[in-house]
Amino acid sequence: MKKLKPGLKPSMYKEICKVLSQEKVAPGHFVLTLESPKISKNAKPGQFVQILCADSTEPLLPRPFSFLDADSKKFSILYHMVGKGTEILSKLKKGDTLSVLGPCGNGFGLRIEDGGWRIGKRQYLMVGGGVGIPPLYHFSKQLIKNKISNKNIYIFLGARDKSLLLHEKEFKKLGVHLYLATDDGSCGHKGFVTQPLENFLSSILHPPSSIRIYTCGPTPMMKAVSKIAQKFEVPCEVSVEVPMACGFGACLGCAVTVRDEGSTGHRHAIACCEGPVFRGESIVWD
Ligand SMILES: Cc1cc2nc3c(=O)[nH]c(=O)nc-3n(C[C@H](O)[C@H](O)[C@H](O)COP(=O)(O)OP(=O)(O)OC[C@H]3O[C@@H](n4cnc5c(N)ncnc54)[C@H](O)[C@@H]3O)c2cc1C
Repeated sequence: MKKLKPGLKPSMYKEICKVLSQEKVAPGHFVLTLESPKISKNAKPGQFVQILCADSTEPLLPRPFSFLDADSKKFSILYHMVGKGTEILSKLKKGDTLSVLGPCGNGFGLRIEDGGWRIGKRQYLMVGGGVGIPPLYHFSKQLIKNKISNKNIYIFLGARDKSLLLHEKEFKKLGVHLYLATDDGSCGHKGFVTQPLENFLSSILHPPSSIRIYTCGPTPMMKAVSKIAQKFEVPCEVSVEVPMACGFGACLGCAVTVRDEGSTGHRHAIACCEGPVFRGESIVWD
């Protein structure tokens, strides 16, 4: 894995963004839409923004959030209120402003080359849990915009219960294949979302070269998805949501251990600038 340089990139902007709307979409979960002519135009699925939630020192550091959606004038995030920063965000009203840096990091990059396979045989599998779901929605929309048929996109969503299956209706509107799983069985498969994924991979006859898996969510889920991808020899990308401070590789606070060819066989990669998207097999999960 090539080591990438930290630092601000020419494609990153710092903007004062106006709140266009804020909507509660699930218990403790909100979609915030911000006006942004520069950041939104450059946003790629899997990239994220660093939002300074307050003018004061509480909290001092910006908070990272993936793009849920973006067009030439605005972008949205879907966030879970878990602490001080997200509590402040949840109180924002239309017309309020926020300081935002982005787009940060590297988004999803694995493509399925034509390689002799008819387009109809490509299969994009996305596995999301909790607040890992937003970048997968952005990615699905982007693929469809780039003329990938919605029939080639398979979404696997997992949550504790039905009320937390984020953006389910919006995925349905995209017309993609949807597989749901809840811990309590209130919707879809009862248990982990990795089971429907494994069942699906066991049942299809397509060669691994025409399938790609993308995942974002809790670390144990991504670890399991990555292992399943390896078992079926399907290339897989994971987007790690490790706590981070600066968002451009200066503070070195978001290191993840990755395999490397050096003497120790591994090294620390800085998730905010080398990731947050990594190849599943490159991460040292244990
Ligand atoms: C690249 C990236 C993309 C992200 N995208 C989203 C998103 O789209 N939607 C969303 O809701 N959240 C997302 N997160 C997580 C989000 O950044 C944190 O939930 C947020 O920073 C919490 O801020 P806070 O001030 O409200 O909570 P804090 O007061 O900072 O923390 C509250 C609690 O949450 C824990 N926590 C904080 N950050 C993380 C984290 N990254 N992972 C696990 N636990 C954490 C803390 O340890 C603490 O227990 C993303 C994180 C990363 C790194």
